[in-house]
Amino acid sequence: MQAPRIVQSDTSLDLFSSGRAMKKLEVIAKEPHPVGSQAHHEVRDYLILELEGLGLKPEIQKAVVESSLTGEIENIITRMPGTANSKAVMIAAHYDSETNTPGAADDGAGIAAMLETIRALKAAGPLKNDVIFLMTDGEETGLYGAKAFMEDHAWAHDVGIVLNFEARGNKGPSFMFETSDQNGWLIKEFIKAAPDPVAYSIIYNLYKLMPNDTDLTVFREEGLSGLNFAFGMGLNAYHQPIDTPENLDMASLQHHGEYMLSLSKHFGQLDLKQVKQEDRIYFNLFGSHMVSYPQSWGMWLMIAGALFFIATVVHGISRRRVTVKGMTGGFFITLISLIVVFGLFTLIWAVWRSTLSNEQLKVMLLDPKVSILVLLGYIVVTVAIIGLLVRWISKKIRMENMWAGLLLLWTLLSIFMALYLPGGSYLTLWPLLSSLIGLNFSIRMRSDERKWGSVFFAMPGLLLFAPICYLIYVLMTLQLAAALLSVVALGFTLIYPVFCARSSHQHSITK
Ligand SMILES: [Zn+2]
Repeated sequence: MQAPRIVQSDTSLDLFSSGRAMKKLEVIAKEPHPVGSQAHHEVRDYLILELEGLGLKPEIQKAVVESSLTGEIENIITRMPGTANSKAVMIAAHYDSETNTPGAADDGAGIAAMLETIRALKAAGPLKNDVIFLMTDGEETGLYGAKAFMEDHAWAHDVGIVLNFEARGNKGPSFMFETSDQNGWLIKEFIKAAPDPVAYSIIYNLYKLMPNDTDLTVFREEGLSGLNFAFGMGLNAYHQPIDTPENLDMASLQHHGEYMLSLSKHFGQLDLKQVKQEDRIYFNLFGSHMVSYPQSWGMWLMIAGALFFIATVVHGISRRRVTVKGMTGGFFITLISLIVVFGLFTLIWAVWRSTLSNEQLKVMLLDPKVSILVLLGYIVVTVAIIGLLVRWISKKIRMENMWAGLLLLWTLLSIFMALYLPGGSYLTLWPLLSSLIGLNFSIRMRSDERKWGSVFFAMPGLLLFAPICYLIYVLMTLQLAAALLSVVALGFTLIYPVFCARSSHQHSITK
């Protein structure tokens, strides 16, 4: 989960160079430039000059906003004509900043990347489709620029897809974290075109449940299809005076620009008249290698998983390795261990909050160097506690009963996810299927020595859970430690059979 390597300014002209974009950003994010301020007017004039210098004819869309905070806004809009336009690709970012921050990452990086992308596109020659570049204003005070564009600008009807660029921190990879509805086709093309894609459908599902908004909310609600990108590490810089060009991770800028250039080129050559298709489930498996399949498969796979679970239990009972009573015990031990973890970290958070000062809390939560150590400590504590707990209460439980019991929980979770959080169904389903295979082997071999096999079959679960846990940590901070560590612990439940003590008279015990 890394941003790509930065590209220096002396590279070939058809490539995106964060080195070149950074030079523009140093001008844009020199000082805070909230809507209506003198600095804002200077940034506006600079962008107009830059766009004209690139051979484009930018126009300013003015709109009066009924809000004391905003007043008048000025979108900067320009269009690069294609040779055989179907519908336009629109690239969007906002050029206003919050009042107390130069806004280098939010959203100067998006704007600077746009200038560098236009330059590279010009160098590469025309595309089939038109490309519209929309630099919105008044995003920070209420998405006003995006609203004005959608309501009043004629070009809003020409847009086939929109790619929006944002930031919620100043470091790390740029995630494709939000899509419009019916994203199937978009996702397939996105995976084909982006050189270093980072995207998880569970994040999109979770984002939908949160109150956060960007310009894409407006575009989406007005019926446009599109993708939204943001980097979110270094949350301590978000909307703070330290969000300066010097503090910005150039790799994040490079990642933004890489998406912007590769996707404009890709979508610039496709027919964009019909871009809606059934939602897909998608996730990074190894590095930038992504997997995706239609969301409807999630439901069928879940049914297959549930039937496989039942078959496994029947197999276990017929070979006298699993009992209903023992499995129920395993199920409750798993459940209790998760509740213990949740309770423990709720308590720890309460203690931190009552003993640390606000400043100390901020450092613990937001300084990445400190919080990552706290997180690692938390994980060690979690594994130690659940390990000891399971070992202690599972003395009289046969390993296969423990295994079947915990997989009952995973089966129930898979059903829940497929129904209510389909974008996250892959997270429980593939680990369930893999561990069920392992359990069937174990039942067949009738050997208590083979409990380490559970670790092997837990690999898909650990592989899929690790990035999501890391993302929850990055995006939600350790304020949500109780929920986060419960998710971590859930991943580790797959290896509970390892913690089962081997009882010498196990065969006589059916519990
Ligand atoms: Zn922003």
